[in-house]
Amino acid sequence: MNTEKMTAALLYGEKDLRIESVNKPQINEGEVLVKIRAATTCGTDLKIFQRGYVNRVIAIPTIFGHEWAGDVVEVGDGVSSLSKGTRIRAGNSAPCLRCKMCQKGRFNLCEDMLWLWGAYAEYIRVPARTILVNSQEIPENTTYEEAALAEPLACVLHGAEEAGVALGDTVVIVGAGPIGLLHMLLAKKIGVERVVICDVAEERLKFAEKLGADATINVSRKEPVDAVRALTDGDGADVVIEAIGLPTTWEQSLKMVSKGGTVLEFGGCTPGSRIKVDAELLHYDEVTVMGAFHATPTHFKKALNLITSRTLNVKPLITERMPLTRIKDAFNDLVSSKSNLKIAIIP
Ligand SMILES: [Zn+2]
Ligand SMILES: [Zn+2]
Repeated sequence: MNTEKMTAALLYGEKDLRIESVNKPQINEGEVLVKIRAATTCGTDLKIFQRGYVNRVIAIPTIFGHEWAGDVVEVGDGVSSLSKGTRIRAGNSAPCLRCKMCQKGRFNLCEDMLWLWGAYAEYIRVPARTILVNSQEIPENTTYEEAALAEPLACVLHGAEEAGVALGDTVVIVGAGPIGLLHMLLAKKIGVERVVICDVAEERLKFAEKLGADATINVSRKEPVDAVRALTDGDGADVVIEAIGLPTTWEQSLKMVSKGGTVLEFGGCTPGSRIKVDAELLHYDEVTVMGAFHATPTHFKKALNLITSRTLNVKPLITERMPLTRIKDAFNDLVSSKSNLKIAIIP
């Protein structure tokens, strides 16, 4: 029996995040053990931390966190694709490839998804299916913390693809947090004509301008719908991306879109939330209203490639680094601060 211990952060409930010494995971055939070198904080983690809410993909208490990268330190029997010392990242999801959704190519909607949690720890066990469908080696030129950001970027890529963000578009992004900023960086790279970004925090808007926003709207000072209309000759935007996850901003986004445009409701609302949609908007204006959930393995792969090829510079989104033992401070800081975007947790 292996009785080796490791340090990990477990979530027990609302704002109840505890550092504990737990058994170091043991690997089976087809699996690898990874020493985590960096794990980044994420809006989803932050929501779960604040609400203590348990969604479909996480049962508490559990080791928290899902964006990570590290070094392979143990290789199970039958694994030929990875060896000791390989720098890897792996996604937090691995679709089954067999269910109805997978057979339709809708891998992010897999009915038998294997979720992988446990990034805020010294080690993580990576299952065989995850190795097979959703892991990549990290090239030398890319840091662990950059590679960890392949997860949120994969989700953003999926959303932008579904919404059809295209060359020459005017895009409004509601929310200048890490996800809003990733959408902005991607839209600029796609070649949209203009990105307008809205937030309540002036610090975040200033940061968005530094990263390339063409216009910003401070919604604590200006009525955002009027402001968007004023910036677009009254037309509204080709694509509006909601990156907060509140019913009020979901509804507000519907008022910012142009005829024939698309509203991507990207931020997840609390389960049971309802919004009102004006039927005329869908009928006469032919507006498309859509959501986007998570990403497919292809998006994860593309996301890492965009980072390693320096097509997108995600580095500025990591605004601080903290040791694993200070994880609770990191999350409390994200709750209260308006300037911290993502914190890299270093075990
Ligand atoms: Zn995430
Ligand atoms: Zn499936």
